[in-house]
Amino acid sequence: MRSVLGQLYLNKVTKSFGDVEVIKGVTLDIKNGEFVVFVGPSGCGKSTLLRMIAGLDDVSKGDIVIDGEKVNELPPVKRGIAMVFQSYALYPHMSVFENIAFPLRVEKMPEDELKAKVDGVAKVLQLDQRLQQKPGALSGGQRQRVAIGRAIVREPKIFLFDEPLSNLDAALRADMRLELTKLHHDLAATMIYVTHDQVEAMTMADRIVVLNGGFIAQTGRPLELYHKPQNKFVASFIGNPK
Ligand code: ADP
Ligand code: MG
Repeated sequence: MRSVLGQLYLNKVTKSFGDVEVIKGVTLDIKNGEFVVFVGPSGCGKSTLLRMIAGLDDVSKGDIVIDGEKVNELPPVKRGIAMVFQSYALYPHMSVFENIAFPLRVEKMPEDELKAKVDGVAKVLQLDQRLQQKPGALSGGQRQRVAIGRAIVREPKIFLFDEPLSNLDAALRADMRLELTKLHHDLAATMIYVTHDQVEAMTMADRIVVLNGGFIAQTGRPLELYHKPQNKFVASFIGNPK
C-alpha cells in the first residue's frame, strides 16, 4: 500500500514565451491515483504544461500545488515527480541494472537498499531476466521499460508521460498500453499521460483533458466525452464522427 500522496492542483496556470501566451489560465484538479490523459493538436501546449508541473519550465502566472503545497519555486528533484519522454536516453555502456539504479547512485543510496529497489522495479516491469544485459541487446519495448524503471525507482508521487509510446510500432504500443495500465494499478500512483492517439486516450484514461490552443476545451470520463462532446473540436479528438 502506498503511503505517499499525489494530488495535483493547477490554479489558473499561464505560460508566455516572450509576448506569446501559450497556456492561457489552466485550472485542473487531479486526484491522488487518477490516470489523466491530455490530448490535443500539436502545439496546443501539452508538453509545456507537463514541463511546468515537473519544474522544467517556470509558470508565468498561477500556481502548481502538490498535496497542498505550492511548488512553483521547488526544483524538479524536490517535487516527487518522474517524467518519461518519447525519446528515452539510456546509457548504452551500462547494464539494465545500472541504468535503472542510476538515480539511486546519484543519491548515494547504500548498496543493499539500492539492489532491493532495482530488483523490485525490474520485477514489476518484467525485466528481472534482463538486468545484466546492455540496452543494445533489448527490443524497443524493453528499452522503454528500462526508461520507465529509471523513472519509477525513486518512487515518485506523480508520473508524467509525454507521448512515451509514439516511437514504437503498433503491436508494441498495444503491449505497452496494457503494461502501463497494470503499472498504474500496481503503484496506485497519479499519472498524467500525453498522447495524440485516441485509442490510448479512450482505453487508458480515468479522465481525459482535451486541450486546444492553451485552453481546456473539455474534461471528463472517456465515455462522457464520446457521447457528450461540447463541440465539434472535442468530438473530432475523441473519434466520434458525429
Ligand atoms: P504540444 O506538446 O501540445 O505539441 P508544446 O507545449 O510543445 O505543444 O508547445 C506549445 C506552444 O508553445 C507551441 O506554439 C510552441 O511553439 C511554443 N513553445 C514551446 N516551447 C517553447 C519555447 N521554449 N520557446 C518558445 N515557444 C515555445
Ligand atoms: Mg509535445
